[in-house]
Amino acid sequence: MAKRDYYEVLGLNKNASQDEIKKSYRKLAMQFHPDRNPGDKQAEENFKEAAEAYEVLSNDEKRAKYDRFGHGGLKSDPGFTNVNDIFSHFSDIFGGSFGGSSIFDDFFGGSQQQRSRQRSTGHPGSDLKITLKLTLEEIATGTTKKVKIKKYNKCSTCNGSGAKSSSSFKTCSVCNGTGEVRQVSKSIFGQFVNIAPCNNCSGTGRIISEPCHTCSGDGRVQDESTIKINVPAGIFDGNYMTLRSEGNAGKNNGPAGDIIVLFEELPHQHFTRDGDNVIHELFISYPEAVLGTEVEVPTLNGRAKLKIEPGTQPGKFLKMREKGIQHLNSHGAGDQLVKINIHVPKNVTVKEKEMLKELQKLPNMKTSN
Ligand SMILES: [Zn+2]
Ligand SMILES: [Zn+2]
Repeated sequence: MAKRDYYEVLGLNKNASQDEIKKSYRKLAMQFHPDRNPGDKQAEENFKEAAEAYEVLSNDEKRAKYDRFGHGGLKSDPGFTNVNDIFSHFSDIFGGSFGGSSIFDDFFGGSQQQRSRQRSTGHPGSDLKITLKLTLEEIATGTTKKVKIKKYNKCSTCNGSGAKSSSSFKTCSVCNGTGEVRQVSKSIFGQFVNIAPCNNCSGTGRIISEPCHTCSGDGRVQDESTIKINVPAGIFDGNYMTLRSEGNAGKNNGPAGDIIVLFEELPHQHFTRDGDNVIHELFISYPEAVLGTEVEVPTLNGRAKLKIEPGTQPGKFLKMREKGIQHLNSHGAGDQLVKINIHVPKNVTVKEKEMLKELQKLPNMKTSN
């Protein structure tokens, strides 16, 4: 299915300002938000379409690429991440102007989580990136994968604090236990007092006097973890998904990083992919094409019978409905398209050669050119 032009989706022309893009997206997002349209598939589609358009057009670099090359220019920057990422827009769009309104806090619950994450003290953990190779069969139906990775987890001995016991702390001498430092700066507008978290104690107001033996005061230990990844059906090579707060644990109970899962599609023995359709090249003999036959073909879900009608021409595509890949954002699946090819033997026996020559003499074997 062809993608609609992103400007068309947002009802704007190519010269639209960032402000207009934001306004138009906000209007559409509110109109089509799933919470307002429960069970309405079309609204959900429109919501995702608008989010994708906004994601591209709100980013100057992506917008420039899109303006020059269209949808094709964005192949390595897939619009799809996951639904939570759509909600991440709301913190910057709705956060500012509607920050205090309870309607919007309920309405766009997703952004709340993110804000609280930023408030935590301690050093944040880093993100981890995983490349997940998937077969076409796995992509067709979606799958659950378990992946072993090395990552930092909260130290269980000290429960992430990094201290030997609850009394192994002393007051931070830099901030005198307040966790904040005040910096006074002067400018043409007057004097500013800037309050920032204390670096010495990471804003906790205390530092460790006796570190935990297991983690040496870090509050975290590196070990092997098993991560469960739910891969939705219909993803494409280069799509990625963010597992929030499943990355490296932060130092001393700092917020954890994310895991970014990048999907990679493995080449398939029998199929090439065309969107959600899969194409299989089938070779039949010349007599089979003339007389018709029934053959067995591979599908993503085992072998299946396929009827070849008498007189089937080479190059023709036979459609096996819904035998392709399940759509990512809607119900149903693509088709399997079987392309008919005629097998032409390179070597023939003397007897075969004689018979072919006989065949050539028959009136129906004459070509028009
Ligand atoms: Zn520890
Ligand atoms: Zn301090």
